[in-house]
Amino acid sequence: MIPVTQPFLPQIDEYQRLISKIWNEKWLTNHGPFVQELEQKLQDYLQVRSLFFVSNGTIALQLAIKALQIKKQIITTPFSFIATVTSILWENCEPVFVDIDPETLCIDPQKIEDAITEDTSAILATHVYGIPCEVEKIDAIAKKHHLKVIYDAAHAFGVKYKGKSLLNYGDISTLSFHATKLFHTVEGGAVINNGGEIGDQIINRIRNFGIEGEDYDYVGINAKNSEFHAAMGLCNLKYVEDIIQRRKVITEIYDMFLKDRYKRPYIGSEVTYNYCYYPIIFDSEEVLLKVKENLENHQILARRYFKPSLNQLPYIKKRFSCPIAEEVSKKVLCLPLFSELNRNDAERIATLVSEKSIKTY
Ligand SMILES: *Cc1c(COP(=O)(O)O)cnc(C)c1O
Repeated sequence: MIPVTQPFLPQIDEYQRLISKIWNEKWLTNHGPFVQELEQKLQDYLQVRSLFFVSNGTIALQLAIKALQIKKQIITTPFSFIATVTSILWENCEPVFVDIDPETLCIDPQKIEDAITEDTSAILATHVYGIPCEVEKIDAIAKKHHLKVIYDAAHAFGVKYKGKSLLNYGDISTLSFHATKLFHTVEGGAVINNGGEIGDQIINRIRNFGIEGEDYDYVGINAKNSEFHAAMGLCNLKYVEDIIQRRKVITEIYDMFLKDRYKRPYIGSEVTYNYCYYPIIFDSEEVLLKVKENLENHQILARRYFKPSLNQLPYIKKRFSCPIAEEVSKKVLCLPLFSELNRNDAERIATLVSEKSIKTY
């Protein structure tokens, strides 16, 4: 069976060497030496001014909302992983969905402006599949209307925009280091503070129950991560360039077979991409289902990321008009993409995807 993704793992003895150090030191969690080292290395690698390693990408989003003291309405994208909206709800805010751009599949800045009310306090946008949102336009809108901006950058590890880290936009960007992501720490995530209105101190404090010294006057949470997770991150970070390169090779094979046949999201020339997903937008759900079934018959799993459109979740009671996101989420399929997928398999998958649709249509 070829899965849609497969986590990268370092050589086991490489990880064990770090684990033995933990055994010697007996410092397991609470901002230990590996966590500190990983934060520093990630900060350098990603070219960001401050990065907080946390327990997962969902808590990173919630921490960002809490730290920026966002209340009431948050304008957000319907085309993302479910954690983008659950984090808004969990922080007792109200998601206001606006539709996406049909080319980049990221939130449409034009529609953000139309949705702003006096209860709007922030924009939470996802760089979906690692494709940058229109960050300059979003920044301008946020400035004009005094809104906070959070980017869910769970897919955007290492992505550059105009030669610089995409993570430097907005007030806060968040990352996920879950096992299925491009760079992982088994479970994990990060909060990147761009040093606007809130200090690093507040984020640090919320991550650690709200405690600072002997001061307990702040409601925080436990968002810390452990030495074991940091050790996995330190091992994997050494290989991340290599992982991205290998994904690029697979992407190019897919492109060779499929680019002219199917619609793909648009990635601008100012983007240095990370090749984290390979989504195809089919002409109809019917074609998608046929292709998916054909792949499954050959023991290949493709996944319907992201479905449903988040505005259509059963617990979202308000109605929002997001026809583009609703349609794309019915017609988009992600092909297997991971560093150890070999060329032959990639060619076989691409052939199956193109053949089937030729035969049937
Ligand atoms: C994976 C993901 C998250 C959640 O991250 P976890 O580490 O799994 O909690 C949030 N947003 C997006 C867009 C994701 O893909």
